[in-house]
Amino acid sequence: MRRTIAIIFLASLLVSQVVAGDRHHKPSFQHHPAIDADSVHTWNALHYEVQLQLTPISVPHNLFIEAVTEVHLTPEIENLEVVDMSLHNMDVASVTLEGVGCAYDLTNDTLYVTLPQPHNPGDTLILVIEYSGYPELTGTMAWQVGIYYPSANMIYTHADAWGARNWMPCWDEPWDKATIRQKLIFPSEWTVVANGTFEDSTSAGGWTRWTYYMNYPMTTYLISFNARTDYVTFEQTSPYCDYIRHFVYPGHLGYAQNVLERVPEMIDAFSGFFGDYPFDTFGCAETPLSGAMENQTIVNLGEWVITGQSEITVAHELGHMWFGDAVSYIDWPEMWLSEGFATYSEALWNQHLGGMSAYHQYVLTNIKAPYVSWQGFNPPYPTYDPPWELIWSLLTYEKPATVLHMLRFHLGDDLFFQSIQTYFDLYKHGNASTWDLAAAVQDVSGEDYDWYFDQWIFEGGYPQFEYFAAWEPEGDDILLRVPIAQVQDDELIDFRTDAELYIYSGGNTLIDTITIEALPTQEIEILLTDEPDSIELDPVGWILCGKTRLESITEPILEASDPFIDDQGGNGFLNSGELGDLSFVLTNLGLPTGDLTVELTSTDPTLTVLEATRYVPALSFYDQYDFSSDPFPVQYNSSGPRWVEFHAEVSEQGGGAVIDTLVIWLPAGAPELLLVDDDGGGSSEVEHQLALDNIRRVYQTVEYVHPDSLPPLTDYSGVIWACGEELTNTLTADDQSLLQDYLQNQSGALLLSGRGVVPDLQSTDFFAYVLHAQANGATASPVVEGADPLVSELYLGIWGDAANNDIVEPDGTVGADTLLVYFPLSQGCAVKYDGDYKTCVIGFGFEDIKRDDPLYDNPEDLLAPLMVWFTGYTGVQEEPVRSVLPTEYLICQNYPNPFNPTTVISFSLPVASLVKLEVFDINGRNVGASLCACPGSHRGLPLQSWHPPGTHQITFNGSDLSSGIYIYRLTAGEFTASGKMLLLK
Ligand SMILES: [Zn+2]
Repeated sequence: MRRTIAIIFLASLLVSQVVAGDRHHKPSFQHHPAIDADSVHTWNALHYEVQLQLTPISVPHNLFIEAVTEVHLTPEIENLEVVDMSLHNMDVASVTLEGVGCAYDLTNDTLYVTLPQPHNPGDTLILVIEYSGYPELTGTMAWQVGIYYPSANMIYTHADAWGARNWMPCWDEPWDKATIRQKLIFPSEWTVVANGTFEDSTSAGGWTRWTYYMNYPMTTYLISFNARTDYVTFEQTSPYCDYIRHFVYPGHLGYAQNVLERVPEMIDAFSGFFGDYPFDTFGCAETPLSGAMENQTIVNLGEWVITGQSEITVAHELGHMWFGDAVSYIDWPEMWLSEGFATYSEALWNQHLGGMSAYHQYVLTNIKAPYVSWQGFNPPYPTYDPPWELIWSLLTYEKPATVLHMLRFHLGDDLFFQSIQTYFDLYKHGNASTWDLAAAVQDVSGEDYDWYFDQWIFEGGYPQFEYFAAWEPEGDDILLRVPIAQVQDDELIDFRTDAELYIYSGGNTLIDTITIEALPTQEIEILLTDEPDSIELDPVGWILCGKTRLESITEPILEASDPFIDDQGGNGFLNSGELGDLSFVLTNLGLPTGDLTVELTSTDPTLTVLEATRYVPALSFYDQYDFSSDPFPVQYNSSGPRWVEFHAEVSEQGGGAVIDTLVIWLPAGAPELLLVDDDGGGSSEVEHQLALDNIRRVYQTVEYVHPDSLPPLTDYSGVIWACGEELTNTLTADDQSLLQDYLQNQSGALLLSGRGVVPDLQSTDFFAYVLHAQANGATASPVVEGADPLVSELYLGIWGDAANNDIVEPDGTVGADTLLVYFPLSQGCAVKYDGDYKTCVIGFGFEDIKRDDPLYDNPEDLLAPLMVWFTGYTGVQEEPVRSVLPTEYLICQNYPNPFNPTTVISFSLPVASLVKLEVFDINGRNVGASLCACPGSHRGLPLQSWHPPGTHQITFNGSDLSSGIYIYRLTAGEFTASGKMLLLK
């Protein structure tokens, strides 16, 4: 079938309603290459003899048929007693076998015929079924199957899929092919065409009987007839086809003669590519179909093909005569064996017309590019057995057409076309599976190609390669090294493929065919006589892949990520005197290294690295080494919580030069803060954690189950209770009494927030007498500013539903004050109580504070002073937050790195500055600019904005970027700095 864009979309509607129910009844042929197509059913159809008298009653759609169909069959099992066949909504008058009546029952689209006596394989039975009725269209309005009667002069059929049963009894599945003779009786003014050879037409009493015989086995979804009162016809000749006759509308004859002019040339060309045309006749019939349909020997062309002169559609449908029609797929999951080949036929027709450059141009532009840019789903489904709504999609057309294109590259033209011809010759007029094709390729090439079809048909997606060139003298020659990484999504496999590598040198081009193995990283070595200028992978576009050539990498690029301390006590925190194992992941983003030595030192005297030296085997491009299997023992000698800075000095083993010194930050000491994740499964804790990390606080997150399951609150200097978007059941009565005891009897400190906290708790004693707050309605204001000296400079933007911005005021108790107010009316937004204990309740969710918006402060700018107030401790001394102003411009390496999908870039400004942060991919494309023009865009990059003096962070979100190296560049006033970061998905 050739589908228009509209049909792809509409086909997805068809599915769930019409055929989904049938799918699970069908046998699976997967990995059964030797299966006999007919053995999965109790009988095998040999021939259908259909006589149909068709009375048009009123348009649209109202037809009456009277019919006699003979089903010639042979049993596939011993003692066959009941013959089941498909038939939809007909009145069956009789079923006979050799003149003897049979019992029958038509239920759920299945006609069950009880034979007078059991029969065995080898017997040939002819069941004669007389029936009549008003044939229905089934399916959706968009794509229905059955007999169409759209206008007074046009009747045609469309049977793909499961449509023939709407007018004839049959075994309506693709694997049971049979010959068919159709005797179609219409009022005499109609011209009728059907599959196969025209035998005769005889007229009597105002009726004409048209007889067509399809003498080659055919699947039922290809059965068709078309009739029109004013069809005009014209004929063509080809040495490969006995008879070519087309049926078109009289007003379209000129168009049709033009667009179909080259049909004989196409038949000749495809006979050369695939093997001789497999049938005796061919023709096209114009219909109002919205696509086109490869009915065997008589293709239905939508009017748009004729008037729009779509010769390529004609080529596609003609290609189906070899693949789809003569060689039929064995079952629906193998759809690609029909549509992939027909789509590839389009490229071959272009090759015939314009040579290999036209062929490549067509594959790149019309086949590969549409598939690659198709964003229909993620991760990609395999081409084999896609979900039914994708069975006529780029998965089964364009993707497998590129698989054939790549196979041609792997085999070379001779072996490729020999393989295709062998496959065609073996399975024409039968059915085949992917493994039958793989076997044909193996027979011809002498090599096992199962891996190829496994990878490209039974797995989804395609590889993304990143590579670069490095070279060095080797004796009198030059050793070219090409590190290659596969950076496609983790859900996808690593791919194996051959590919051409073009090596450019002084005006010459050397083409080397390399084999890329199914490995995440590898290095290809090629010995050259001359130094290369540059290289390029697969410039012709043989391979279905993404490819990025990395430039200017001249040294190893090492990164540290995922730092972690596995403490002896096992609570996740390094307590005073406790030993632990420090590990991190070392990644090489650049040239391969030799064996490495890593020396780890701590910049904090309270944390001792007990064994500082570790050895790492050589890291090639993108290799990672995880120290968790051989970690660095460390010991903590302090009791206080703090973040400790480590330096990992990496050098080549054997006294080589230092390659890099990596900085790693980790928290140590008992956690000072408890973060209670009580948001009913939401993710509000993430924003809290990010803010706490950014201000270098040591905290422990606990998922709330029940107040008794929490660790003793007195172990912490403060509790942050996050209720997120929960509107009810924020703090239970038990929670309230636990917190009241902790606060009033233990001088505790509590930060409480959540969208529902104020309305849910406002009538409780806890709210009035512990938090010392009172509620006063809600406000739509999205902006909050500091009202208390603690946060006097603060200016926050709030996401979320304004209905959840609750007004909360202090109750007048000494020590209770307004902390934040909604702008501009100065309505209370947060209340702090500073007495024997400390509390702060906020009238909106902390997680709803905007981050990295140039107009506003960040969430941690609110959290930092509150935590200083709670703990009396200002956090890590080395990184003061909003205390001492920086004395110089500074931009820090992003953290974490590698990252997925967010990372934070910090910078310090000595004076207020106009700041611009840009992010580029490795080819210099600005990946942030197009999306960062508005503040708060999803990548969080303000285009350019004023920042006050101090230390700031911007979070970069690469969620819609692919894995790879990115460069960030910060411009602040006269100062510019940049760094590399790695997105690893
Ligand atoms: Zn097709």
